[in-house]
Amino acid sequence: MDRSELAGRIQTVLGLIDPEALGITLPHEHLVSDGSCWFNEPGEATTKAIVHQPVTVDILWWLRYNLFQNRDDMLLLDEQEAIKEAMQFKLAGGASIVEMSNIGLGRDAAALARISRATGLKIIMGSGYYLAASHGPEMDTKTEEEITDEIVRDIMVGVGNTGIRAGVVGEIGCSWPMTDNERKSLRASARAQQLTGAHLNVHPGQAEDAAMEIIQILDKAGADLSRTTIDHIDRAVREPENRIKLAKTGCYLEYDLFGREGYYPTHVRLIDLPNDAHRINEIMELIDKGYLNQILISQDIWNKTQRRTYGGWGYAHIMHNTLPVMRAKGMTEEQIHTIMVDNPRRAFAFV
Ligand SMILES: [Zn+2]
Repeated sequence: MDRSELAGRIQTVLGLIDPEALGITLPHEHLVSDGSCWFNEPGEATTKAIVHQPVTVDILWWLRYNLFQNRDDMLLLDEQEAIKEAMQFKLAGGASIVEMSNIGLGRDAAALARISRATGLKIIMGSGYYLAASHGPEMDTKTEEEITDEIVRDIMVGVGNTGIRAGVVGEIGCSWPMTDNERKSLRASARAQQLTGAHLNVHPGQAEDAAMEIIQILDKAGADLSRTTIDHIDRAVREPENRIKLAKTGCYLEYDLFGREGYYPTHVRLIDLPNDAHRINEIMELIDKGYLNQILISQDIWNKTQRRTYGGWGYAHIMHNTLPVMRAKGMTEEQIHTIMVDNPRRAFAFV
C-alpha cells in the first residue's frame, strides 16, 4: 500500500471504499474496548464493594451518578453483544461507525472485521496512543519517530500480522495537565498525519484551555488542522467564545457525548454536561457563525451503561432521539445531512 492508493478514499477494516459509500456515520464510538485505564481503586470499604460488582440493574441507581468508577462498566469485551448493539444503529438507517479504540483501549482489529461482516456496517479503525494512564513502561524510552512509524505501519500495512489497516489517527489521548509522553505522542501523530494523509482525532483533558494547547502543539508539529478533530467539546470547551476561537483554527468540533444528559457530582471533580437539547443549541450557534462544515456528532459509547442491554440509550440514540429534536428546533434536512454524512465523508477521506 502506498499513499497514492489511499488518496481520496476511506479505509475501513474490510478495505478501501469511495467516500460516497460512507453514508450516515457515527464518527466516534467504541464497539469492543477496555477502558479500565480510567479505573481508580477507592479507599472506602463499601465503595470498594460496589465498584467491583458486575453491571446489573441492582446498582444502576449508583452507576448513573458515579461515572467512570465501576470497573465492569469500563469493559466492552463481548463481541456478540457489540454486534447486537451496533445493529440497532444499522436498523435505524446508519451505515458507518468510526471505532476510536487504539493502543491503550484494547484495540481488536480482527474483532472489528468480524463485527463489520456480521452487521454490514462499515467500520473505520483507530491508531496511535490513548491517555498516559494507559501507556506501558516502554513509552518513556520510545522516540517520537518510533511512534510515528508504528502509526504509519498500522495505516499502510496493518495492525500486527492481521493485515487489517487503520483508517484514522486517534483517539490520541491527552490528560490535564498534559504529560511529556502525551506531547510526544501528539507530535508523532501529527507527523503520521503528514506522511499518510489520514484524519487526526484528539481527546482533550478536562480543562477549558486543553483544546487550544493541543491545537498549538499540533500546529507547531506541522499538523493539518483542517483535517483534525477535537473531541468532547460538550465537556471540554464550555465557553462560547472559546468554541469560536477553536473553530477559527479550522479544526472539526466534535460533540460526541450525546445521550449523557446529567451532571456527575461525586466524580473526582464536578462535570456538569449540557443535555442533548443544549448541545443542539450550541451546534446551531456554531452554524449561525458559519461553522456547519466543522461539526461532528457521536455518542462515544465505551461504558456498558450506555448500551441498551444495560438500560442505556444505545448506538441508535442520535438517530432515534436527537435528529427529531434538531428538526423541532428548526435545523434543516440539509444541515442534518451535512453533519451526519458530508462532514464525516470529507473528514475521513485520505488526502
Ligand atoms: Zn472515545
